[in-house]
Amino acid sequence: MADTLAESLRELALANRMVANEGVLDAFGHVSMRHPGNPNRYFLSRSRAPELVAPEDLIEYDLDSRPIAEPGVTQYSERVIHGEIYKARSDVMSVCHHHSPAFMPLIATGTDYVPVFHLGAVGGIKPPYWDQHDEFGDTNMLVVKPEEGASLARALGRHWMVLMNRHGVTVAGTSVRDCVFRSIYAARNAEYLVQAMAIGSTIAALSPGETERAGNITGTTTGLTRSWEYWAMRVAKAGGALAPAKAAKGTKRAPAKASARKGKAKGGKRR
Ligand SMILES: [Zn+2]
Repeated sequence: MADTLAESLRELALANRMVANEGVLDAFGHVSMRHPGNPNRYFLSRSRAPELVAPEDLIEYDLDSRPIAEPGVTQYSERVIHGEIYKARSDVMSVCHHHSPAFMPLIATGTDYVPVFHLGAVGGIKPPYWDQHDEFGDTNMLVVKPEEGASLARALGRHWMVLMNRHGVTVAGTSVRDCVFRSIYAARNAEYLVQAMAIGSTIAALSPGETERAGNITGTTTGLTRSWEYWAMRVAKAGGALAPAKAAKGTKRAPAKASARKGKAKGGKRR
């Protein structure tokens, strides 16, 4: 697990690449992390495809989703999804918003997500749906206003996943690794669920008790470490490994400060 802020930022950058490499994120979608040392801040990449995210792309935000320092680069428009969930849920340390193809048949039909294999339990039983139109009428479907993000966070409630009608999915986690695990395995489960529905009308879902017990896999270090290594290896095989950290091993690296980012932006190299 990450010990320093710099390592946490590398982990978050890699998380974006992993979830993209597994086909859950594509050009769109993002993974964020609450600041490990300041619960009133979070980190999210500048606007770019998640499979390209590097530690230096990460911008520090307050929970109103305002950058701590003017980043001088384009930002994701849907960042209020992250900020409003961190505001509403002190136990959430990481958020992933995606439009995974695996979920779209469920979302297009308003079909409930149910776990059909043990690892799918991380998505919960019948996680809630949120329809932006209910409260906000016709919009461009992007969650960009703080009140829209807050509404989504209310719909999430105590769950770990909320399905967004005609849009996508938002997943919460107790750590970056937990959030990655939930995002990827809930998407696998959605694939299996849709395929199973095409075969027959009887879906053998986990019971509530099985879901609770099987869903605890992310609470075990072995489950998380093993899957993290697997997805990291697959990113590396795909040629997407992060560049090595610059500082020598054992040297305490300085965190990526907002002021340093600003300086870089001024230099015009970030665009
Ligand atoms: Zn979206």
